[in-house]
Amino acid sequence: MKSLLLIDIQNDFLPGGALAVQQGDEILPVANALLSQYELVVATQDWHPADHQSFAGQHPGMEVGQQVQLAGLDQILWPEHCVQGSRGAEFSAQLNQEAIQRVIRKGTDPLIDSYSGFFDNARRKETELGSYLRSQQVDEVHLVGLATDYCVKFTALDAVDLGFRTVLLSKGIRGVELNLGDCQRAVDEMRSRGVEVR
Ligand SMILES: [Zn+2]
Repeated sequence: MKSLLLIDIQNDFLPGGALAVQQGDEILPVANALLSQYELVVATQDWHPADHQSFAGQHPGMEVGQQVQLAGLDQILWPEHCVQGSRGAEFSAQLNQEAIQRVIRKGTDPLIDSYSGFFDNARRKETELGSYLRSQQVDEVHLVGLATDYCVKFTALDAVDLGFRTVLLSKGIRGVELNLGDCQRAVDEMRSRGVEVR
């Protein structure tokens, strides 16, 4: 069975949000139009405690975009975003949420970030996404959401690693593009690692 994965379609990643992805709102009608084509729709939700160490404000003297070490990994510092229970962490009101059967929250450990919906960035802990999809006999996942060069990319790569046939629906993604070309490089990397790009 196929499942549609909605990656982090949250207010803070949309125009006006704390970590807004340019033209991120253009994916909303694309995602809504897809929902009826899938028997199973799962959404990931970035869900950080207020003291999450990916926030630049947690590192005095450091700025957004700079790097620190977190759990032994290079970590880009982000503005505070998707704090648990905040409006910014909510899914967009323009997303038809009735179709979502399961929400997978990630980034809950203050000491490590989690771009992928399946694992934290050091792969120390697994979310319930993989086991849930398997329990539903899903063998193919299709991805839309935000952002192409971070959470969409890492979720897609992990899906391939876990043995799911993985399809990126390119009309339904937008990226941060911290460096020019990041989105294209992300798509190229996904394709080279076995993600089908449509
Ligand atoms: Zn985050």
